[in-house]
Order: sequence, then structure tokens, then C-alpha cells
Amino acid sequence: MAVPSALIRSLQTATGFHQEAFEAVHASGEQIVSIRLNPLKPFDHSHLPISETVGWCENGKYLSERPFFTFDPFLHAGAYYVQEASSMFLWQAIKQLVPITTGKKVLDLCAAPGGKSTLLASYFTDGLVVANEVIKNRANILVENCSKWGAEQLLVTNNDPSHFQSVPGFFDVLMIDAPCSGSGLFRKDPDAIEEWSEANVALCSQRQQRILADAIPCLAENGILIYSTCSYSQAEDEAICDWLTEELQMESLSLKVEENWGIVETIAPVHGAIGYRFYPDQVKGEGFFLACFRKKTTEFAGKMKLKALPMTSKLQVQQLHSQISLPENLSYFDQNEAIRAIETQWLKDLRTLASHLYIKKAGIEIASLKGKDLVPSHELAMSNWLEGGYPSVDLDLETALLYLKRKEFSVEGQKGWNLMRYGGLQIGWAKILPNRINNYYPGEWRILKE
Ligand code: SAM
Repeated sequence: MAVPSALIRSLQTATGFHQEAFEAVHASGEQIVSIRLNPLKPFDHSHLPISETVGWCENGKYLSERPFFTFDPFLHAGAYYVQEASSMFLWQAIKQLVPITTGKKVLDLCAAPGGKSTLLASYFTDGLVVANEVIKNRANILVENCSKWGAEQLLVTNNDPSHFQSVPGFFDVLMIDAPCSGSGLFRKDPDAIEEWSEANVALCSQRQQRILADAIPCLAENGILIYSTCSYSQAEDEAICDWLTEELQMESLSLKVEENWGIVETIAPVHGAIGYRFYPDQVKGEGFFLACFRKKTTEFAGKMKLKALPMTSKLQVQQLHSQISLPENLSYFDQNEAIRAIETQWLKDLRTLASHLYIKKAGIEIASLKGKDLVPSHELAMSNWLEGGYPSVDLDLETALLYLKRKEFSVEGQKGWNLMRYGGLQIGWAKILPNRINNYYPGEWRILKE
């Protein structure tokens, strides 16, 4: 696999670039596999060939070979996320820069498919994390991955970056994992080489500036901006950092990096902003760039609109509580004929966001009421909120896969709604009837491979 010579030429002045080693590692075809564990869903992972922990992220684990992830029910249970190791450096950045997480509001602006959002949700367990994706069909996979992760404080929106200007100064942390020319993934995805061009690097650089300029007004004064790309090109990395410092008066922040991680610190040529480069010949991971900033300017915000949410009637909440045991601190609202719940502490923020943005998912969908019948929702099974009320059935691997393929399967269990579990984790609902079992695994998420 040959890296484009124009890219190699452009990298001659990049800090830490070693042409020979860089070309050799791309020619080697070596593949690094890593996953990030979900602290909400501990499980027995002895079937996965975990070799070591990722240095900069304690939930990150390297695997010695790539398993067939699709046929592992734990993946569908949201017990882990398959994520490239370098990008888990975000964990280190927030750990160092935002040690106190309580009440923090976090936006992951370019979020699909959800690698960074699920990481942020695992860190800001007592904060509010908004995962946004502008492209509609990519927002669906983001909803799927966030739902499986089961974090109730993780919201999904589907908006253009400029729409966030209507909530000035709202967020404490802004993550922008910008769309880029993708050279950092050449080793993992050689097809990306075909799509690379100098012209596209220039286009990406302009788009990155536009996205940043559009989104930064939604960050509070002293809020933290984390900017990342999977491109090696300085036009998308150091040049953007210089531009952020000069044009948007952002203050560059540095991180402590252990020497044995192999991460290269780089200093932008004009204004000296600091960034971190990941070269696959030096780190155990793919190409990546990350830089952190503090916002030094103030937004002059008027009073933000507060839309009334359609709150669920007391009678329906009572009906819900008569069948399902849930935590006490929840507020219930209706959406698309279903009842959803969010922790009451976030209700006002949700109302603000709902007044200005298109919300795809907020809180956890609990159930829909069909007359007197209560149909429990898949999102509820994926969350850790259920405190009782339903019997469960433990499935073996073969039956779990039939269930996840949405096929017919047979198990013994109490009549009515049952939670399907695998290895101690909930994977969804089934309704056991006298003569059959109705499989309620979401059709659009089912395993299609045989
Ligand atoms: N953060 C994601 C993760 O870790 O899983 C990966 C994000 S990917 C590098 C960049 C995302 O930006 C893509 O999902 C893409 O659809 C989105 N995007 C593309 N054009 C955009 C634009 N003009 N504004 C905002 N986001 C855009």
C-alpha cells in the first residue's frame, strides 16, 4: 500500500514525521484492533483475546486478533465499542482538563457513529452529553449506538453546526471531531488512499474553519474545546490551531503525555498552539491529531426560549409505576406515542435544547401504552434503570444469536413480557405466549449476517 507522494512531500515539515518508518508501517499491512469497555455493563470478556490496556484510556483494550464481532451478543448489549485506540486519547484530554464532571454540559458536534460520544458519556456520568450529527442517515446509527450504550444522560440531535448558535454559551465542553481528508486511516482502510487529494485537504481545511466558527458561540466562557482529526495534513491540524488562536482568541492548552505512549507534541508555527500527533510507526494506533483550547471570550446571550414539553399525565405515570420499578428522580414526557424519561435535573436543559434543535433521542424511552397494555421499550432494556417488575430468561449463545437475528427461538419462561439476557446483560424483550414467543428485538438493528 503506497501512501500518496504528495502527502509524503507535504509532511516533510511536520513535527515527528519519519518518512521511512511511516512508509514501512503502511506497507506492513499490520492491523491493530482495540475496544473500549462500557463501565455501565461489566461482563466476562474472557472470550475476547485482550492483550493489554491502552496507555491513555483505562477502559481501552487491545486485542491480539480481530474476532468476528457481529456474532458476539455482548457487542449488541452495549458492553463494549470497537474503537480505534488513538482516538481514545480524548479520555486523557478530558481527564486532565475537566477533573470535576458534576453538572457539566458537553456537546459532541460531529458525532456519528458515536465513538467519542459513548466515551464522553462514560466520563461525564453526572453530566449531560449531546451527540449531534448533521447527516440524517448517519444520525440513525448514532441513535443505535447511543441507545445500546445505555447512558441515560446521552442525547442525540440532528442539526447543522450553525443551529447551535441559538444556544449561546450553553456548553462547558465542545468536542469537534471534524470531517477530514482521512489520511490517518490509510493503514486500516487502504481504499481511502484513492479518495485522497491535495485539493480535498484544502476543502476540508475550509470546512473545518466553518464548522468551528459556527459552533464556538455555543461554548461558555472558560469552556473547553477539543478539536481532532484523523488527518496528518498540517492544513487540517496545526494551521487550524493557529487560526483558532488568532481569529477566535482561543487559548491553547497542553496535556501531560507519557513518553512511552509515542505521541508527538507539536507547536503550530505562527501562534504556538500545542497539538498532539499520532503516527502509526510510533504509537499503537492509527493516525490522529488532537488539540485543546479554552475559550476566553464571552457570549452575550439573551434569554433562551423554553419550549413546554408534552409531559406524561399523572394517571399514565401511575400506570407505568404499577408495572415497572424505576428510579425516583425521573420526569416523564411523551414522544411519538411513547413515554420517555429523563433525570429531573436535566429537564430544563432539555426544554431549552428542544426549543432550538431537532432532538432524535432524549433520555430513555420507557414504554408505549396500547390501551391498558404497556409495551416496554428496547431502550429501557438497554439502560440500567430497570429495578424489577419483569422476569428474565438467560439465553445461551446459539439462542441469543437467533434472538438478535429476530428469528424464532424457544425458551422456557413465565408467560408475558420477559427480558432476554446473555451473560448477565439485558439484550432486549420477548413476549412469551401460550403457543409461541414474540421476538421484540428492533428489526432495523437485527443481525443480517448468517
Ligand atoms: N466522532 C465520530 C466518532 O468518533 O465516532 C466520528 C466523526 S467523523 C470523523 C466526522 C463526522 O462529521 C461524520 O459523521 C460526518 O457525517 C460529519 N460531518 C460531515 N460534514 C459535516 C459538516 N459540514 N458539519 C458537521 N459535521 C459534518
